[in-house]
Amino acid sequence: MGRKTKKTTETFHFATCKYCEREMDRGCVKHWYLIDGKEYEAIKNGDDGNKGTCHDCNARQGEYHHPGCDMEICPVCGEQIIGFHDCDVTEVILANE
Ligand SMILES: [Zn+2]
Ligand SMILES: [Zn+2]
Ligand SMILES: [Zn+2]
Repeated sequence: MGRKTKKTTETFHFATCKYCEREMDRGCVKHWYLIDGKEYEAIKNGDDGNKGTCHDCNARQGEYHHPGCDMEICPVCGEQIIGFHDCDVTEVILANE
């Protein structure tokens, strides 16, 4: 029986955040959202009532979720930011770190 080898990079590395461009083994850089024309600071993991490390983006307590994380809540209405809510989220503004 023949054998095949496959590279494991996809399996053994965390995905890279397209915003902060870091591997998602920890939280994102500080960021704000432009919502209905105003800037709002993103809600950190922990400040949203989540306990422990984020299961979706690996943000630890006190770190920012990566934009697109399904646990991050909207700083305006408290609903899931990538879900359905009445806010018009148009931009992510990232701190230079
Ligand atoms: Zn990020
Ligand atoms: Zn997260
Ligand atoms: Zn909202």
